[in-house]
Order: sequence, then structure tokens, then C-alpha cells
Amino acid sequence: KYYNQIEDMKGKIRVFCRLRPPTELERRRGSEDVTQVEDQFSLGVNSTRGYKSFVFDRVFKPHESQEAVFQDTNALIQSAMDGYNTTIMAYGQTGSGKTYTMIGEAGSPGIAPRAFNRLFELAEEGRARQEVQIHCYMLELYNDKLIDLLRGNSHIEPEKLEVKRDKRGSVHVQGALVRHVNTAQHLHEVFEEGLSNRHTSSTNMNAESSRSHLLIVITVTVTSKQNGSVLRGKLTLVDLAGSERTHKSGAAAETLKEANSINKSLSALGDVIAALSSEASFVPYRNSKLTMLLQDSLGGNAKTLVFVNISPALYNVEESVVSLMYASRIK
Ligand code: ADP
Ligand code: MG
Repeated sequence: KYYNQIEDMKGKIRVFCRLRPPTELERRRGSEDVTQVEDQFSLGVNSTRGYKSFVFDRVFKPHESQEAVFQDTNALIQSAMDGYNTTIMAYGQTGSGKTYTMIGEAGSPGIAPRAFNRLFELAEEGRARQEVQIHCYMLELYNDKLIDLLRGNSHIEPEKLEVKRDKRGSVHVQGALVRHVNTAQHLHEVFEEGLSNRHTSSTNMNAESSRSHLLIVITVTVTSKQNGSVLRGKLTLVDLAGSERTHKSGAAAETLKEANSINKSLSALGDVIAALSSEASFVPYRNSKLTMLLQDSLGGNAKTLVFVNISPALYNVEESVVSLMYASRIK
């Protein structure tokens, strides 16, 4: 049923809600669970403003596996092979499960590593009919600056990376290193290399991960062996920066700058998706670098899946409600 939903979703936005289980710390503290999964499409939350339900294209319960989540996401990987631009992203406050969903952990791979395997499985399956070329680049967007994660320590000045659009409207990032990848294993290695360049250290200027957006862009070029026709698809995976509002009092200047930059880009993203959902005549892509980067992968022929990740804990409830409202607005 969900496969069909996604397969039919050309030009559509889907929003999935994923509730994470209580963390070990929350369990030990006996932190109260304020959420209630009503059914596969509806999540209720008890806050100071009372009980409120939010409806999504799908709600994942805390115990639902990475495998189950990928089952319902899978069709978008096929779409990238079929020439569509597809985006999968995770939205939510820090600690809500975005990275767990998009990347996963040792022994519990998330969407990205599963998508890498799936892409090469599909390429292999179609080998008699077509030739598939896969390229990837990886970026971090921090304080409105782009950082090329595949350039390691020898990266060129971030100012030199520029978001460009060609005549067909395709977005590319001028100055970013694009890697050709031959196998799933190779893609996993390139991805790990990019992630390792993301860690904060004195030798590079990468931000602490929850304060920056992470983008993995995989382009797929499929050439038919029968008639030489070419299909170009793209799969963009985004682990968004934490959506929490930092408290202005006491925040260091740099943190405040970070918070403002994150707020600005996440609200610009919300504005773009809401404009697309309501079929507004003007879509404000140019209000942030994040939406400029995603311009050819949101709206038009593109397929977009947004996860809103939610913590079940009482102490996060205000942020959870804000996230759920954001997600409801873009649906
Ligand atoms: P974020 O990236 O939004 O800051 P993380 O993905 O790092 O959050 O998740 C925070 C913690 O919760 C991690 O310890 C992670 O292992 C755990 N976690 C998140 N989602 C799940 C889940 N669905 N099942 C089990 N553990 C989860
Ligand atoms: Mg994270």
C-alpha cells in the first residue's frame, strides 16, 4: 500500500513521523512518556496545552525497525534510477533520532547505507538493459557556509563553493568534489570518509554535527543499451540541523549566530515545502542556501519524503509540539 503511495507521488511531498523509544537515561530518570501512537497515521501528544493529534502519511512506533522504515522508503531509490530527483530528509530537535534514521549506527544501519546497497542492486539487476553510472558528493551547511566533506583537510575555501543551476534547472555545486563510485562498498567508504571529515577538531572548521545540515547527493545516470537514451536521477539524503530553539539569554555569540542561521534555513525550507504543498504560484527557493541546494529536488517532478523525528519524553514536549506543527504545515 505504501509502495503505491510513494510510487504515485510525483510532485508530491510525503511526511512520515518517527517516534523514538525512551533513551537509557530517560528510562533511568523515569521520564514520563507524553506520546500516544493512535494508529499508523496518527500521533497524539499531551502537552500543557492539552491533548492534540497530528496526522501523517505514516507514523512509526518506537519499536519499528530500521528495516521496516526502509521498506516504506525503498520506492524512492527506484525512482532515482527511473530519472527522478528524490529527497529524503530528517527534521527534529537534537536527540530525536534524525541521524539514527538517516544514517543509523553500527549494527543498525539507517536509510543511507541501505539506499547505497539498493542502488547497486538495482544497477546490477538492470545490467543487460542499461549502463548505470553513480557519482556522489557530500556537503555540510554550517552558518550558511558550504563545506565540502569529500575534500578532507585540503578543502578549498568554503566561499569558493557555489550553488549553480544549469539551463535544464539542475542544481550543482561549483567547486565541490564529485566522486565516481563503482560499487556499494566503494560508496560506503566514500560516505564514511565524508562523515569523518565532519567531526569537530582544531584542524578543520567543521561544525558540531547537530548544528549543521548534512547533505549526501547521489547522481544516477542510466544509459539504455538498446537506444542510447539517457535518464538522469538524483537521490539527496539530508540530516538536518537540530530544530530546537536555543534560549537567547546566556547563549554565546557564536551559538546565537548558529541558532539564527539554523532557524532561518529551516523556516525557509518549511516555506518552500508549504508553498509546494498548497500549489502556490511562487515558491521562495532563494531565501536560503539550503532551499537553493534542494531547488531541483523539491517540487516539479521531484519526490520528497520528510521524516519528523520525535522524542517521547515529557521534558521535550514543547519542542515535540513545535516539530509536529512544522511537519503538519508542510504536509
Ligand atoms: P539526532 O540525530 O536527532 O540528534 P540521534 O539519531 O543521535 O538524534 O538519536 C539520539 C539517541 O536516540 C541515540 O542514542 C540513538 O541511538 C537513539 N535512537 C534514536 N532513534 C532511535 C530508534 N528509532 N530506536 C532506537 N534508538 C533510537
Ligand atoms: Mg544527529
